[in-house]
Amino acid sequence: MAAGAAVGIELGKAQVAVTILAMDGTVHAQKVTSTLPEVSLQRRLGIALGSVHTFIASDVLNPGSVLGIGLGVAGRHPTSRPDGDSGSVDPPGVKLDRLGRLLPAPIIWDNNTRMAALRYLGSSGPESPNACVLYVVLSSGVSAGIIEGGQVFRGRGAAGELGHICIDPIGHVCSCGAKGCLEAYIGVEAAVQCARGKGLAVEDLKALADLVQSGDAVALAVSRQIGRSLGIGLSSAVMLIDPLRIILTGPLLSLGPALVSAASEELRFRRRAVNLEVPDIVAEVGSPFDSSHGAALSALQRWGDTFLGGPTSHS
Ligand SMILES: [Zn+2]
Repeated sequence: MAAGAAVGIELGKAQVAVTILAMDGTVHAQKVTSTLPEVSLQRRLGIALGSVHTFIASDVLNPGSVLGIGLGVAGRHPTSRPDGDSGSVDPPGVKLDRLGRLLPAPIIWDNNTRMAALRYLGSSGPESPNACVLYVVLSSGVSAGIIEGGQVFRGRGAAGELGHICIDPIGHVCSCGAKGCLEAYIGVEAAVQCARGKGLAVEDLKALADLVQSGDAVALAVSRQIGRSLGIGLSSAVMLIDPLRIILTGPLLSLGPALVSAASEELRFRRRAVNLEVPDIVAEVGSPFDSSHGAALSALQRWGDTFLGGPTSHS
């Protein structure tokens, strides 16, 4: 391709995705490959490099035109620097030298959820494009990205671990070992356990979602209970950062609108109790390319000439 491009790569838990963006931010090419959870990060990178190779061999991508590479990596990465500038440090568990040889361009990396949040920059509408948005992925864990002023908020590098916000200090034991974490109540496995505890013989989330869809009263009660727990967790986050909008995505949304409305109700109750504005909650189906797309946007934001219609500074 001609005028330059940004490459975004996601090394996710269940998939590897690549997005190539043109300079104006439009999608030029994308490819996703499903992977098993036991596949190592290094092997995942190998899969991504295979996709990039294919794009190069078919003249979809000219390595010399790449301005920058964004990489979203599953897992917690406390070594990522607060400004998102990962410099020459590799993410834990993966060496990026082969990527650097294939595409001679600077690399920025971060957690894959924070990269995916960037995909939703400007989603708060044309009147408030820089407003604070909380992006939440509801999956086996619960992760979040906070965007404001066109940037992802990182704290010391790990902001957004919403799944380990405590909603009950004497409650269920979380995978982290602590008691009462949000994801011990609303993670996919926790949701299935909750349904079994109420007598539903469900094998997995899909089976529970099918019951919800069929209008089963117990399954709907499970969906609402999980929604209320989500609303409690969200209200803690909202008290702290006061976003204009919350974007929810991830497999747990298959439990239907009852989950989202119960979460909204809980959040509304808690915000009104203290006379504060209630953010919109938007449920997004999302795309397997959200994180790789956001990662490519992150590279464009850093090294491109224009981003979302406005100039950015070079570094
Ligand atoms: Zn935990």
